[in-house]
Amino acid sequence: MGNADTNSRIALNIHELQTAIAKAAERAGRDAKDIRLVAVSKTVGDQQIQAAITAGLKEFGENRSKQFAERQASFNDVAWHFIGRIQTNKIKDFVGTAALVHSVASERVLRAIAKRAEQLGLIQSLLIEVNTAHEASKDGVSPHELPSLLEVAQDLPTVRVQGLMTVAPIASELEVQRCFADLRELSEQMQQSFAGVTNLALAELSMGMSDDFLLAIREGATILRIGRSIWR
Ligand SMILES: *Cc1c(COP(=O)(O)O)cnc(C)c1O
Repeated sequence: MGNADTNSRIALNIHELQTAIAKAAERAGRDAKDIRLVAVSKTVGDQQIQAAITAGLKEFGENRSKQFAERQASFNDVAWHFIGRIQTNKIKDFVGTAALVHSVASERVLRAIAKRAEQLGLIQSLLIEVNTAHEASKDGVSPHELPSLLEVAQDLPTVRVQGLMTVAPIASELEVQRCFADLRELSEQMQQSFAGVTNLALAELSMGMSDDFLLAIREGATILRIGRSIWR
């Protein structure tokens, strides 16, 4: 397929997606402006990313640190989110350049990010990933481990916890919805427990991908991470 075809296909996909997001927001009685779209570009090339930027997207996500660093450098007019599993020896690739790190799931990683941010003289925004599916194969802290991780975070002034993130399992609609509802309830509980702690903002809910973003919007998602529906 030619470049022009690829570009117009991506522009159309983005338009359809934004329309679906707006409709779902309206059905949920929410303002679509409160829902950010992060385009997950891990499976595509630079041309597709450029097409999405031309079509108006401003936030992108990568799940591998090396590719994150390369793309953030190539396309530095847009915001880049790190959404993948974190290895502490690779955090230099995204701390300081990521608008938001979605996938912090241990005290070790949290402290490593805080230390790197301190060296760079900046504050790194991040989310804590929660395993709402209760599956051993899934990343994220379990809901009962979350309070103690936030207690660690509140004493680390070079990180700012903007909220929570989850990846739903491939399961029934009911089960996926339960995961998203659990993340929202957990977020509300944590906002109460840590009210007034300045570096724990906890307003963001990063949940919803190509197959489940409508449910996520219904349950309060503020950030959608979408790949396949944009690039297909
Ligand atoms: C790949 C990926 C996405 C996007 O998934 P799609 O099904 O392509 O929309 C979202 N979140 C994470 C963590 C991912 O790795």
